[in-house]
Amino acid sequence: MELARRHLVQPWPTAGEIGAETRSLIGEGEGIYITDSDGKRLIDGPAGMWCVNVGHRREELARVMYEQAMQLSYNTPWYTMNEASAVLAGRIAGHAPGDLNQVFFTTGGSSAVESALRFMQFYNNVRGRPEKKLILSRGGAYHGSTYLSASLNGRPRDRDWMDGADDLVIKLSSPDPFRRPAGMSIAAFADSLVAEFEETVKRVGAEKIGAFVGEPVQASGGVIVPPENYLPRIRKICRDNDILYVSDEVVTGFGRLGHVFASEEAFGIEPDIITFAKGVTSGYFPLGGMVVSERLLEELRRSNHPTAMYAHGLTYSSHPVGCAVALKNLDLLEGGILAHARAVTPYFQARLKTLEELPLVGEVRGLGLMACVDCVADRESRNPLELDRNVGMRIDAHCHELGLLVRPLINMCVMSPPLTITKEQIDDMVSILREGISRTMDELRKEGVWRG
Ligand code: PLP
Repeated sequence: MELARRHLVQPWPTAGEIGAETRSLIGEGEGIYITDSDGKRLIDGPAGMWCVNVGHRREELARVMYEQAMQLSYNTPWYTMNEASAVLAGRIAGHAPGDLNQVFFTTGGSSAVESALRFMQFYNNVRGRPEKKLILSRGGAYHGSTYLSASLNGRPRDRDWMDGADDLVIKLSSPDPFRRPAGMSIAAFADSLVAEFEETVKRVGAEKIGAFVGEPVQASGGVIVPPENYLPRIRKICRDNDILYVSDEVVTGFGRLGHVFASEEAFGIEPDIITFAKGVTSGYFPLGGMVVSERLLEELRRSNHPTAMYAHGLTYSSHPVGCAVALKNLDLLEGGILAHARAVTPYFQARLKTLEELPLVGEVRGLGLMACVDCVADRESRNPLELDRNVGMRIDAHCHELGLLVRPLINMCVMSPPLTITKEQIDDMVSILREGISRTMDELRKEGVWRG
């Protein structure tokens, strides 16, 4: 579309195309499908950006947005409050583990992570620990696009041309079992990750580290499911060293792993803060937030600085329309969609796993209704690099022709469809993906760049 090429700046553009690029124009959506401007119906493989959890064109959600906007479209959260946000906070707290009882609403995931980090800084200032501010993050992480949240990002290429608050962040290894050192068992790999964490805390000093931020499953890093029991061990080190554990559930929350929150139900951890966004409204409205431990707030309330200000808030914090749609979305999730997601998960994972028969595919991994097809130049070295930049894009282009939108990530394709997907639709998705990968293999062979 010419107007887009002339006037619209897309997210994540390259310098060579910034402000001069068009992308597939999507006109409508229904259920797990979207339709592009040529009238082609596609399975929405990534559910938007891991967010359209209850599916497209839910009339109940549209109606509640209309009704809330007609009743109260906005109120200032600085001096007033609205009912929907209080009710939603209560519902979310009811799903959160332990004493995570208090919710601060933001406009999305980046602002949720940013809020958690600024909270940690405030918390330690008020407690008289102004030195305790460093943040631990990991390779493969994605936590957002605001300055501080983006500084935590650890995926290849994210930081090549972008600045960050590097003096505030310490990067640890990605807990990626597939690319663990050759010859090492997964149990030994988990031990090495825990040892690295412990040594870092010892070397830097716990008195200087304020928080660890981690996704339970690294999503945009390629659906990295960590080794068993690794997260509880990291949780314990954090607790022992007064380091806040921030569990970034922007992707894993609100049903992707079959639960409203996965930290405790899927991984057995009780974090200090959980950040969420995306699935909280199934993408119908930009909303996110953090759930905070009551204990931390109680400490602040009892501190020697009762007038110290957490000078942090957004114009759209606690937005009534966003909170109203989130409440209805939660009704849908609790009313059967979470149970459906749990029921189809084994089928989804097993069907996708069959793609490992294709020689271009190094591994298919995943958990819940999120999975990643990881393509490799050769299975021995697991090297993604020779092919890297366009394998995912090539598969995506073929799949688009065949009726599936894929989320290409360098050499990987990520699948995280709406949670309402049926077994038949899973079959369609996997057979299109199989054909798209086969066509890509043929193409690479013909070009002589791959000999699988
Ligand atoms: N955290 C995680 C784990 C994410 O995957 C994302 C976005 O993909 C974010 C934070 C940032 O969220 P947003 O794009 O809503 O700002």
